[in-house]
Amino acid sequence: MVFEKSDGGYLILLPDVLATFDRFRQNKPKDKEACGVLIGSLKEGLFEIFLELATSPQPNDIRSRMHFWRSPSHQKIVERIFRESQQTRVYLGEWHTHPEADPTPSTQDWSAWRHKLSEQTEPNPLFFAIQGIRVLRIWQGDVTSQNIKELKYKE
Ligand SMILES: [Zn+2]
Repeated sequence: MVFEKSDGGYLILLPDVLATFDRFRQNKPKDKEACGVLIGSLKEGLFEIFLELATSPQPNDIRSRMHFWRSPSHQKIVERIFRESQQTRVYLGEWHTHPEADPTPSTQDWSAWRHKLSEQTEPNPLFFAIQGIRVLRIWQGDVTSQNIKELKYKE
């Protein structure tokens, strides 16, 4: 799946990432929100960005129908993959699910995203994905401007 970034470049989601999102869609009334982090690599500078992995919910996350709390285990996975990939696979943002067909970020989502973006020390943008029951939406946060904008779905 490909999304168009605001600079005309592309965000490319590899099948592993889509499979993880798909597995945690909140199809059933009792399905809980799931969350994780996004990991990938930057090729051709920042023009094309590949999302290669999304961490699955970890046992010590706290999950309910409408909320989640992401445990530090996700950050440990990011650090391990960064080391094992000779520092080519980096942290690229966050994802979670919503129990609605077409997801709208909550006020809490916006403040959590702004906070993450303000903490980002690398120049690359961060991505924030919400998998709804039907639709996947992704926002891009730019470090320099601190703006967060939704990406256009391409194919
Ligand atoms: Zn949310």
